[in-house]
Amino acid sequence: RAHAGDPREPRRVVIIGAGLAGCLLATLLGRRGLDVVVYERREDPRAAPPERGRSINLAISARGLAALDQVGLREQALSRALPMHGRMVHDQAGGRSFRPYSADGRRAINSISRAELNLALLDVAAKTPGVNVSFGCRLTQLDLDTGELRFDTDEGPRLARADLVLACDGAFSAARRAVTFRPGFTFGQDYLDHRYKELTIPARDGEFALDPDALHIWPRGESMMIALPNLDRSFTCTLFWTAEQFAALRTPAQIVDHFRAHYPDVVGLAPDLVEDYQRNPLGSLATIRAWPWVHSGTSVGAGVATTLALVGDAAHAIVPFFGQGANCAFEDCVEIDRCLAESGDDWPAALAAYERRRKANCDAIAEMALDNFVEMRDRVSSKVFQAKVAAEHWLERRLPGRFVSRYELVSFTTMPYAEIPDRMRRQTRLTALAAAGIAGLGAGVLRVGALTSRGRRR
Ligand code: FAD
Repeated sequence: RAHAGDPREPRRVVIIGAGLAGCLLATLLGRRGLDVVVYERREDPRAAPPERGRSINLAISARGLAALDQVGLREQALSRALPMHGRMVHDQAGGRSFRPYSADGRRAINSISRAELNLALLDVAAKTPGVNVSFGCRLTQLDLDTGELRFDTDEGPRLARADLVLACDGAFSAARRAVTFRPGFTFGQDYLDHRYKELTIPARDGEFALDPDALHIWPRGESMMIALPNLDRSFTCTLFWTAEQFAALRTPAQIVDHFRAHYPDVVGLAPDLVEDYQRNPLGSLATIRAWPWVHSGTSVGAGVATTLALVGDAAHAIVPFFGQGANCAFEDCVEIDRCLAESGDDWPAALAAYERRRKANCDAIAEMALDNFVEMRDRVSSKVFQAKVAAEHWLERRLPGRFVSRYELVSFTTMPYAEIPDRMRRQTRLTALAAAGIAGLGAGVLRVGALTSRGRRR
């Protein structure tokens, strides 16, 4: 266990938030021999039903699975997951077409229940020696100079002290407020005009009402709906519409008429459409950028100043259109663990390396997630886009490992996100030539071969 007096090894480590990142990080730190106290605003989910409001299921892909593997949860998560091998695009006339995610059609992202995944992570954390989780404790104040934390609980205010606070308390982090007005702290939250609302397509005669092997998309230009399968054979649909579009539908007749006109194949599959629409909350969508992620107070007396590090959504919330927020938050936790191992548990060095290594990666996925919204709601239905994807898959089959689409690099590899845009720029030239090749221009194919062998020599 960490020993007292050595400033590189904090004695009192606190994690705020027993969400996805908080539980994974607590487990990883407990396994390093640290004592960790996790404070969570919600009641113990093992005793209370999960909170409604945010997405019911998550798409977890290679990065998330690699992180879960670190704590022995990969196989358990996969055994409870529904693989989705591609997108099923629903057009406005009710027609459908399936687009595989990978050239060989074999790669899949996984639809996993958020509540179940959080519970599995919490179970592992709670069983890890050195980890203690306190529920019903909402952080209201953090003072980095004194190391004092203040929580609201049902029994009244509760105080604690820490040398190191790891803020895993999500996009609207209360711990982050301790540094919001510090000189040098850059912070921004960019909201989309779009908001989201969930609806349900229940099982029909005990079976899935739609193909469960796909992430369903209803692209409608400015807006869209998606649906992911659940283990109980229902689908959770999410509408991504502008606030005006949501506000325009007030009466049951307006809601049904709108769906009949724009999502005709959904009306017969969603018996509670009107009720869901009227009852379910509207969520907001924001990209949160903060820097730096690591802060220290001024030491008081002979004490060592308290350090705060932002992790997961607290450091970099992103819009959900690449299904990467949780995957990315998990990567943060693994990176902290790796930095600790590499620095011999020297926390200041490890946290400095963590923020340096992760920032560019998180910025890159934030941009790609915004771009993917346009792809999903608009580009996916265009003929040019379809030709581009066909060309990409053609290249992937002919140049395996050397040409890999952006979707595959993000979802099916653990390549640092920041390296992906550059690689895509290099590959774009190839795609253009391959499109010409598909159109029967044999000369283009020859040039592709010449370009790749030149690329390999570099
Ligand atoms: P959170 O999961 O938000 O956990 C924060 C925890 O801190 C919670 O338990 C909360 O109760 C607790 N907390 C908050 N405030 C306090 C406080 N004051 N005191 C104590 N505890 C507190 N990601 C994917 O990878 N794939 C997807 O398919 C996907 N789909 C999404 C769909 C939607 C609609 C949205 C909104 C997000 C989606 N995400 C997805 C993103 C993903 O949900 C987040 O990136 C992920 O949950 C971040 O994990 P976290 O642990 O950092 O934060």
